Amino acid sequence: MQRFLEQVPFFWQESLWQRMTGLHEQRQLPHALLLSGPSGLGKALFANALARYLLCLNPIDSRACSTCSSCRLGWPHPDLNKLSPDEGSRVIKIDQIRSVIDFLQQTSHAGGAKIALITVAHGMNSSAANALLKTLEEPTEGSYLILVSESPLQLPATIRSRCRLLVMSPPEPEAIVDWLRSHISGDGHEDLRRLALVSDACPLRALEMAENGELERRDAVLSKLRQARDGGLGPQALLAQLSGITETAVVEYLLASLTIVIKYLLANRSPQGDGPEVAGLIDSFATKADQKARVQSLLQLHNESLKASRRLRSGSNPNPRLIVEALLWRWCQLPRQP
Ligand SMILES: [Zn+2]
Repeated sequence: MQRFLEQVPFFWQESLWQRMTGLHEQRQLPHALLLSGPSGLGKALFANALARYLLCLNPIDSRACSTCSSCRLGWPHPDLNKLSPDEGSRVIKIDQIRSVIDFLQQTSHAGGAKIALITVAHGMNSSAANALLKTLEEPTEGSYLILVSESPLQLPATIRSRCRLLVMSPPEPEAIVDWLRSHISGDGHEDLRRLALVSDACPLRALEMAENGELERRDAVLSKLRQARDGGLGPQALLAQLSGITETAVVEYLLASLTIVIKYLLANRSPQGDGPEVAGLIDSFATKADQKARVQSLLQLHNESLKASRRLRSGSNPNPRLIVEALLWRWCQLPRQP
């Protein structure tokens, strides 16, 4: 996604960008920022572009000039230290934070700012977070800490309270269709609209989905889930047919399916523009009889799937297959259309 760095701020980031650069021009930008929001909005790209702007000695029109002595030091910039969990790990360790603290205390190469950019900041373990706390309380002159996290509530309250919280929000789904059209070749308008919906209007996620053939894969899984609803597939046969998909991903598709069905049942309307597989899925639930109990049982399964998803993602469970089978069994047992 580095290819997008030059495009920052994207149209959905424009107001946040103006706020940040405006504060900087007034010399009121807080030294610690916590950038949050769902994945697929380009938060890390935004943070990188902001760092580049802050490092520039002579910004022009709220952008890095690319010609001053600092900009000419190139990218990655020697006054920027980027940190995230090591490859294969989910955790940011205390040694990594210590190296950032040392870095911030050194003299700037360009005579300007020093910046530490910590992505997946919620990955800091408690000793790493404690080590960072002191830096947040007693910042070095001219230094900035930019934390990026899609789960800011997982950060200790002591860290959150010392940062300015910035929330990046998705644009309206319709608004990203044009943007997607200019970045994807050969897709029909209907597919772009579906991508916008399926990605929760997170444009970079939508783009990734298009490149990975996600709509086709999703349709195939939804079709299998529908077959299971119709009694044509038991949980084990269903899992066997989804063998190319990880257990974690199966739970994500189940969660997505439950969300879709709950949404449409509560709104009491039929789906439009979500594709035939979604329409089929809704059909298998749609009836006015005992709607409340139906939604409750869906919500309950949604809740359990959410917990299972967290357990699977933490990698702590020894038997993911058993978890998924149990959820699929519940899915098959949900009341059918009479
Ligand atoms: Zn510059």
